[in-house]
Amino acid sequence: MENCQLPFANHGHVILADPSPILFYPISSTEVRCLVDVPGQKVPSIANGEMAKYLKTIVAPQIPPELHDAFISAIDNGNIRTMPNKSLPADPYPTPGALLMGDAFNMHHPLTGGGMTLALSDIVVLQDLLKPLRNLHDAASLCKYL
Ligand SMILES: Cc1cc2nc3c(=O)[nH]c(=O)nc-3n(C[C@H](O)[C@H](O)[C@H](O)COP(=O)(O)OP(=O)(O)OC[C@H]3O[C@@H](n4cnc5c(N)ncnc54)[C@H](O)[C@@H]3O)c2cc1C
Repeated sequence: MENCQLPFANHGHVILADPSPILFYPISSTEVRCLVDVPGQKVPSIANGEMAKYLKTIVAPQIPPELHDAFISAIDNGNIRTMPNKSLPADPYPTPGALLMGDAFNMHHPLTGGGMTLALSDIVVLQDLLKPLRNLHDAASLCKYL
């Protein structure tokens, strides 16, 4: 969204909407990104206009009034991208020779805005854990250790 003012400047905003939360956050001095969780098995199609209809009829009435016009403009300008989202709780399955990190290991809802930070902090933790090990080729003891 372009040229709009968030109710609280320089803050992320979570709207506890029905049926799911909506997130707004500044990504530059003139742009705000809006992230809408669209629940269900099938993402409404952008191509046939289903997504624009969903955003205008279900989401738009629930967002702060000062963001409304910019939200509608962004939809009309076709400024919509979709990403699949699923639940993947951390449940380690040690596999000899493979180590899953980042989203492959543990996925958080994009609303938390923390997945990338988490992946990098896992790397730091792992680096410290592996430091005392001398032989990374011994898969069995590495699995046990992890
Ligand atoms: C909408 C959205 C907003 C987000 N916002 C934030 C945020 O604000 N802050 C934050 O910290 N995190 C955010 N995240 C989470 C963050 O993007 C992820 O946690 C992070 O990208 C995970 O990195 P990764 O390397 O584990 O996986 P990915 O970034 O998904 O990388 C995996 C790569 O593997 C490739 N790949 C898949 N299968 C194969 C294959 N068979 N062969 C070869 N390549 C393959 C994929 O194409 C991809 O490039 C957001 C996520 C989403 C969806």
